[in-house]
Amino acid sequence: MDLKNKQILVAGLGRSGMAVARFLSQTPAAEGSRITVADSRQEDAFGQDATALRDSGITLAFGPHRQEIFENSDLIILSPGVPHTIAPVTRAREKGIPVIGEIELASQFIRTPVIAVTGTNGKSTVTLLIRDMLEQSGFKAVAGGNLGTPLIELVDRQETMDFVVAEISSFQLDTIETFHPLASVILNITDDHLDRYPDFDAYARSKARIFANQRFSDICVLNEADETVLSVSENLRARRFVFNSRRFSENRSWISGRDIWFYTPETGEQHVDGSESMLQGRHNLENISAAGLAVLAVGGTIEGIQSALVKFKGLPHRVTYVDTVSGVQFYDDSKATNVNAVARALESFDMPVVLIMGGRDKGGEYECLKDWMQKRVRQVVVMGEAAEKIETVFRNMVPVITAPDMGAAVKTAASAARPGDCVLLSPACSSFDMYESYAQRGNDFVHAVDLLKKGDQ
Ligand code: ADP
Repeated sequence: MDLKNKQILVAGLGRSGMAVARFLSQTPAAEGSRITVADSRQEDAFGQDATALRDSGITLAFGPHRQEIFENSDLIILSPGVPHTIAPVTRAREKGIPVIGEIELASQFIRTPVIAVTGTNGKSTVTLLIRDMLEQSGFKAVAGGNLGTPLIELVDRQETMDFVVAEISSFQLDTIETFHPLASVILNITDDHLDRYPDFDAYARSKARIFANQRFSDICVLNEADETVLSVSENLRARRFVFNSRRFSENRSWISGRDIWFYTPETGEQHVDGSESMLQGRHNLENISAAGLAVLAVGGTIEGIQSALVKFKGLPHRVTYVDTVSGVQFYDDSKATNVNAVARALESFDMPVVLIMGGRDKGGEYECLKDWMQKRVRQVVVMGEAAEKIETVFRNMVPVITAPDMGAAVKTAASAARPGDCVLLSPACSSFDMYESYAQRGNDFVHAVDLLKKGDQ
């Protein structure tokens, strides 16, 4: 891709947009180019960052997107936070202006083999597991993408790396063109982001773009128990590896008790002991199964896989134990922003659960939680914009109480719980109605549990 002497627009100044703007203003590959960044927020939302961009010669355009800025560009680099379907973008596309994302741009500069991970849930966990398993197998690996460091920031570090492990969201996949990972992983596809896609099929098709440019010599790791994953991958060209499968033939991984088995022609049949993992729940055995299979497929070792899984502590806000108050255990799963993540969290417990849900609705079907509601949940506490919608779905099944904020939700949940129960924050919604991020919401929960404990002593 020729970036020289161009008018380039970076639309959306989130973490990756900021990294793209910085990269373009420094790389010799974009010599002579004029760079504009646009964001619908006002300049004061960016503080020092706006000043730094301006100082490096970049033109800033804040406030509502202006059509002419898009149409006067030779290339648009769209951030995942900006829908690729908004009018200025579609009109620019109609005029033949290329629109790509940060992943596509980075992939033009990254020569190190990439292992790319997508799916509705488990991406961050599996991305870090793969990185650790590769490292423990003796390779040098770095993780980035949707998680942590944008890929474009890894361009300068790739020389010393054997692999780049990239978490890739569906929004990022919407703006790839030639991005071509050595290995791709699709963990699962369930309801999510239906507030941004026209329907579930469109969301599923977006996930399948991860292997669209793969060739016969590449690797794709798929969840064999997920019908949507199987149906979108029917025309896959890459070598097919399946996890969450039955023991059957080669290139697969299956779970037996807490043992995770792998069978590839190169390595024969081997297994690791999943009971040594600190991670909770069957879904995490599936995550280890997917990560391990990808690692074996690119030349890692079973010893490396076992050693990484023993050390891996998990990420915060994913079914994370917080504390015990009056015999009730509190768990923070604030990262559960869709219904399937909540179902898998409920599956992880064998005691009754008081469940705190709610936030900003993302268009998923809460109905699919009905079985777990009946099996596990003593009481639901709802909060945020989606409170009423959730209450309507479950009120004939379990008691549902509405709370105005997290402090009240935790107190209500604590008084409904009996010793031996657990209180689980697993919202099934995004946090943006009340918080800046899922992490801030999780920290607020932890704080409320702390106050509860202090009041209790
Ligand atoms: P992502 O990066 O895809 O959001 P995370 O690893 O951050 O994935 O986990 C997000 C949420 O999904 C957490 O609530 C976590 O407990 C849950 N989760 C993790 N792995 C899976 C899985 N394989 N299937 C369903 N839910 C999962």
